[in-house]
Amino acid sequence: MVDDQKILRREEKDNVLKFNVLVTTRSFGKIVPEPMERLRNEGIHILEWREESGLGIDKLKEMVLQADGWIIGNYPIDAKILENAPKLKIIAKHGVGVDNIDIHAATKKGIVVTIAPGANDQAVADLTMSLLLSMVRRIPEANASVKSGRWERFLGFGLPGKTMGIIGLGHIGQWVARRAKGFDMEILAHDPYWPEEAARKLGIARADFDTLLRKSNVISLHAPLTPETEGLIGERELSLVKDGVWIVNTSRGKIVQERAMYEALLSGKVAGYATDVFEVEPPLASPLLKLSNVVATPHIGSYTKDALRMLGERVVESILRVFRGERLEFVVNPEVYNR
Ligand code: NAD
Repeated sequence: MVDDQKILRREEKDNVLKFNVLVTTRSFGKIVPEPMERLRNEGIHILEWREESGLGIDKLKEMVLQADGWIIGNYPIDAKILENAPKLKIIAKHGVGVDNIDIHAATKKGIVVTIAPGANDQAVADLTMSLLLSMVRRIPEANASVKSGRWERFLGFGLPGKTMGIIGLGHIGQWVARRAKGFDMEILAHDPYWPEEAARKLGIARADFDTLLRKSNVISLHAPLTPETEGLIGERELSLVKDGVWIVNTSRGKIVQERAMYEALLSGKVAGYATDVFEVEPPLASPLLKLSNVVATPHIGSYTKDALRMLGERVVESILRVFRGERLEFVVNPEVYNR
């Protein structure tokens, strides 16, 4: 439990919350300013250390010392940085993947970690379908060709009647399934924590992992990055897939072993790989960038105005609730904060 002295109380005198919130995401408060303004209107002081700001690590450490709350994107929070976070009560993820946060270290220090589910899932599902369609209809190549004055044709792959295998049938996976059904695709899914009711409502057939690999024409990855899923798609798995399978990844780069994917793309075993995420981001040294059958985007799954607004509202709500000692939703480590 967060001890009671650490919980923020509204100052009776001037009706504001006297707290500091550190922001290290690339987007919070930038495209959609209202959520950050709401924090400021509550009297909260914002400390900004953006990943691209050029402020050094010493400046970040100085800010962490003062922070009561931390709004985080993909910057890594490890045990070491949390050692010098004496006031920190909440780490609010501006998204859902918490693989960049040492949850164990946060829990040991009594810091609650929250996520913002349901805010960006449709945006990520839209990007998944955009990547898939771009890849199978070869839109990046066709676009480059027309703009360079040529008039070539690029043979596409039809989706209707084909099977999409979804790995991870959570929020995003379910929205992808709905969209793929709109394209008349058959859906198979694999998820060790099978969401029975949702799958039944959506009419999605359950498959074990290897069966899904063998039967799918398209595989879409929507599992979180965990010790179990790191390197999930490697040489063995790519030897099981149908010849000419198409793979889409909008989950996390490290779920796919890029070297094995590169070899499978070169040999034609995998017809194409469309990805928003990489083992290392930005992927300056990734061999995948050299291949014409790879479609790549720079981790923009959540990057729409609507999703950023919802994400911003969710993180602000979590922060204010913790500061006020109120009931909290979407807690990753409920043993720390269970109001
Ligand atoms: P979610 O928690 O709702 O769904 C994840 C699903 O994966 C759950 O149903 C879970 O049971 C399942 N799962 C866990 N381990 C698995 C395994 N070994 N094999 C198969 N399934 C497994 O999360 P979500 O909101 O759907 O997001 C999924 C992931 O997408 C996030 O963890 C994040 O890494 C990624 N994401 C990427 C972007 C982006 O910008 N590209 C944006 C948001 C989320």
